[in-house]
Amino acid sequence: MSATLDAAYASLCGHARETAKLASIAGLLEWDERTKMPPAGGEYRAEQIAYLAGEIHKRQTAPQLGEWLAQLADSSLAADRHSEIGTVIRQLRRQYDKKTRLPQKLVEELSRTAVLGQQMWSEARKADDFSRFQPILEKTLDLKRQEAAALGYEETPYDALLDDYEPEARTSEVRNTLAALRDALTPLVEQIVGSGRRPDGAILKREFPIAAQEAFGQQAAAAIGFDFNAGRLDVTDHPFCGSAGPRDIRLTTRYNQHDFGDAFFSILHEAGHGLYEQGLPTEHFGLPTGETVSLGIHESQSRMWENQVGRSWVFWEFMFPKARQKFLSLGDVPLESFYAAINEVQPSLIRVDADEVTYNLHILIRFELELAMIEDQLQAADLPAAWREKYQHYLSITPPNDADGALQDVHWSAGLFGYFPTYSLGNLYAGQFFEKANADLGDLAGQFRRGEFQPLLDWLRQNIHHHGQRWSAAELAMNITGKPLSHTPWFSQIQHKYSELYGL
Ligand code: ZN
Repeated sequence: MSATLDAAYASLCGHARETAKLASIAGLLEWDERTKMPPAGGEYRAEQIAYLAGEIHKRQTAPQLGEWLAQLADSSLAADRHSEIGTVIRQLRRQYDKKTRLPQKLVEELSRTAVLGQQMWSEARKADDFSRFQPILEKTLDLKRQEAAALGYEETPYDALLDDYEPEARTSEVRNTLAALRDALTPLVEQIVGSGRRPDGAILKREFPIAAQEAFGQQAAAAIGFDFNAGRLDVTDHPFCGSAGPRDIRLTTRYNQHDFGDAFFSILHEAGHGLYEQGLPTEHFGLPTGETVSLGIHESQSRMWENQVGRSWVFWEFMFPKARQKFLSLGDVPLESFYAAINEVQPSLIRVDADEVTYNLHILIRFELELAMIEDQLQAADLPAAWREKYQHYLSITPPNDADGALQDVHWSAGLFGYFPTYSLGNLYAGQFFEKANADLGDLAGQFRRGEFQPLLDWLRQNIHHHGQRWSAAELAMNITGKPLSHTPWFSQIQHKYSELYGL
C-alpha cells in the first residue's frame, strides 16, 4: 500500500464514520419523534431532522470525497471488489456517484413534493376522494422520471428507482420472478378459499392485557436472540425498527388488548430486523462493511423470524405453554386451534393486515401498477380503476372505495417508487435461505421445539449479517444457496404448510 493511497483510504473511512455519527443522531431523533416526543415538539423536530439531512447530504457529495474516491477507485486497493477495502471503496463510490448525479434543485423539489404529497394523500384518503390526490401524484411521477433520467438506466426508468432500495437488482429479473410467483400462488389461494375450512379467528380477539402482551413479546424476542442490553422495545403507531448506533437498536410495536396477533407478530418481525442490525460487525459501523445489504435482504430476516419460525407449529409447541401462563383467555384453547387461527388465510383488501399467503399478491398488484405508471403506460387518473381490476383478478375482491383501494398506502405519496417489490423479494429470500439453513443445520424443527434458536441465528450471522455489504443480494443468494433467487423454495414451504392446514 503506497503512503498516499493509505492516507486517502484512512481519510475516506474517517469521513464516512463521521457521516454515520450524524445519521445515527438523526435516527435517534426520528425514533423519539415516533415514540416519546410530545406533539408540540414536532415543528422544531422537523427543523432538526431537515438540518441533519442537509449536513449529511453535503458530506456525501463533498468534492474532497470525490477526490479521495477518484484516487482509490482504480488503484490496487480496489482491485478485489469483495475484499474488505474493495467493498468500502466500491460502495462509497457508488453512493457518491448516485448522489452527485442528481441536480440540487431536483433533490429539493423531490423532498418538498414528498412532504406535500403525504399531506394531500392523508386528506384525500380521509375524504375518500382520489381526485384530491391525483395532481400531486402526477407531479411526483414526473419528478421520479426526471430522477431516473438523471441517475441513468439501461432498460427502464424503474431500474434506476428500484436501485435505491434493492441495489443492483434489475426490473426485468424482478418482474420474471414475481410473475412466476403469481402464477403459482393464485391457484393455491383459490384452493384454500374453496376448501371451506375456516379456523376460529375469534380466539385471537379475546382479552389480552397489554402488560402481559408486552412481557410475552419481550420474552419471545429474547428467546430468538434479540439482545435487550443493546436494544429496546417501545410503543408507536406504525411499528418499525430503528437504529441509534451499533449497539442501540430500537424495536417498536403497538398493542390492542383485544388482538393477540397484531403486536406479537410485529414484535417478532421487528426483532428479526433488529437481529440483523445487531449482527453487523460493530467495528465496521459507519462503513459499507458494517451496513445492511438491501431492503429485500433486511425483510428476509424479519419475515423469516416472523413466519418460517414464528408461525410454525414447532415454535408454538415451545411457546404455547408459556402463552397460556400469561393469558387466562387461552386457557381452554387447544394448540391445534391456536395454530390454525394464527395461520388463517383470507383474501382481504388491506395489505398490512394480509396473511402470509395472500400478502405477496398485494405486493404484485402494487409492483405492476407502479411499474406501468413510471413507464407511462398507466396514467394517474386511471389508477383507481386499474387497482380495482387487479384486486378482482388476483384476489377475487373489489374495494368498495378508493380509501381502501388506490389510496391505501403512504408510499407513492412520499415518492417511494420501487420500494414495494422488496417486501416480496424479502419473502422469497427468506424461503430460499431457510431451506438451505435447514439442510445445513439438520433438524431445525426439532431445535425450535426445544426452544433452541441460536443455531439458526448463528447461521444467519455467519452467512449474511457478518458480511455487511460485501456481496449484493443476488450474490448472497448465489453464494449461500448455489442458485439465483427463485420463488420455488418459498412456494413449496407455503404449499406444504397450508395443504396440511386446509386439507388440500
Ligand atoms: Zn419489515
